[in-house]
Amino acid sequence: MTNSIFIMLDHEEGTISAHSYELAAAARSIAEGEGLSIMALGAWNDVPPESGKFARETGVDLIVLVNPGLRHYSAEAYINACAPFFIERRPLLVLGAHNARGCDFAPALALRTGLACATGAEEIFAEKDAFRAVRTIWHGKVREELTVVKPALVTLMPGAYSYEKNGNIRPGSVTAMAIDLPPGKTSPMPPISTRTGEGAGLSEAEVVVAAGRGVGGTDNMALLRGLAGLFPRSAIGGTRGACDMGLVSYGAQVGMTGRTVSPRLYIACGISGSAQHIAGMKNSRHIVPVNHDPDAPIFRIADIGIVDKIERFLPIFNEKVSGQGKTSDEPQK
Ligand SMILES: Cc1cc2nc3c(=O)[nH]c(=O)nc-3n(C[C@H](O)[C@H](O)[C@H](O)COP(=O)(O)OP(=O)(O)OC[C@H]3O[C@@H](n4cnc5c(N)ncnc54)[C@H](O)[C@@H]3O)c2cc1C
Repeated sequence: MTNSIFIMLDHEEGTISAHSYELAAAARSIAEGEGLSIMALGAWNDVPPESGKFARETGVDLIVLVNPGLRHYSAEAYINACAPFFIERRPLLVLGAHNARGCDFAPALALRTGLACATGAEEIFAEKDAFRAVRTIWHGKVREELTVVKPALVTLMPGAYSYEKNGNIRPGSVTAMAIDLPPGKTSPMPPISTRTGEGAGLSEAEVVVAAGRGVGGTDNMALLRGLAGLFPRSAIGGTRGACDMGLVSYGAQVGMTGRTVSPRLYIACGISGSAQHIAGMKNSRHIVPVNHDPDAPIFRIADIGIVDKIERFLPIFNEKVSGQGKTSDEPQK
C-alpha cells in the first residue's frame, strides 16, 4: 500500500465534470497533514480535451488510460482498464463520483482490486487504520458512519465538497498511457438521446413539470410530458432520485447540485421535498405538488397541493384540460 490518493476522473464524452474538481478538493482535505500524494486516473479512447485545465487548476497529476474500446462507457471495459493499474500502484484511497456511473463500477472495481468500498459518502476522514465515511440514508432522515479499512475506494456525493480555485497551486501534469484491453462480453453502442434538449429550456420555461421517485417508472413519464404539453413554454425537470432512476437526464436535475429554476409554475410530481431539491426551486412563483402522502415536506412550501397518486390524478387532469382546448365539433370524452 502506497501513500497515494487517486481520484477517478469523471467526464461525459470528454467534458470533465464539476464533480471531478470536488473529488480533488476532498482528496486535498484528507491529504493535508497526512503526507499523502494526490493523482487522478482517467480512462477513455483519448485524453479528454479539458485535461490540461483540470491538472493546471487542481494541481493534480492526471494519468489517462487510452484504448479505443473505452470510447463508450461500459463497466466491464472501465474495470478491465483500471483494475490492473490499481493492483500495480496499490493506492491508499481511491475517490470516485457517486453518480450513475460511479454506482455502476465502484463496488466491482473495489472487489477486483482488493479495496474496501463505501458508496454515497458526504464526508470522509482519515483515521489510523481506516477511513471514516459519513452518509445519509432513508431519504436523508438518518446519518450513518462507516469504518472502511485501508486501502479503500469511496464514492462521494455531488456537492459534498466544494472546490475553490487556488491561483498559487503548482500545475499538475497530464500523461496518456496506451493500454491493452481483453475482449469484452458487452459492446456499448453510442448513447442515443431520446430526450433531446431536456434541461436546456429549464431556466427559460414558464412552467416546469418535475418528476420525483414517486413517478415510479418511465411509463408514467408520458403523463408528465402530457401535462407539460398543455403549456406553451414548459420543460421537464426532476429530482436527483428521478435522474438516478433514469426518468430524467442529469442535465435536467433541479436542486442544490443541479439547476436553479424560478418559473411561474412548478408542478412537483411524486417529489418528497428534500432540502437539496427545494434549494433549486423554492423561488418559483407558484408551487403545486402532486403527492399521495399528505405529510410530504414539499406541501410546506406549496401554494396548492394535490394529495393523490400521480397515475390517478394526471390522466384525469390532462384529459379535462386538453378537452377544454377542443372546438365544439371535436369529440369530447
Ligand atoms: C450532497 C447532496 C446533494 C443533493 N443534491 C440534490 C439535488 O440537487 N436535487 C435533488 O433533487 N436531490 C438532491 N439530493 C438528494 C436528496 O437528498 C433526495 O434524496 C432527493 O431529492 C429525493 O428525491 P425524490 O423527492 O424524487 O424522492 P423521495 O424522497 O423518495 O420522494 C418520493 C415521493 O414520492 C411520493 N410518491 C410515491 N409514490 C407516489 C405516487 N404514486 N403518486 C404520488 N406521489 C408518490 C412519496 O410520498 C414521496 O414523498 C442531494 C443529496 C445530497 C446528500
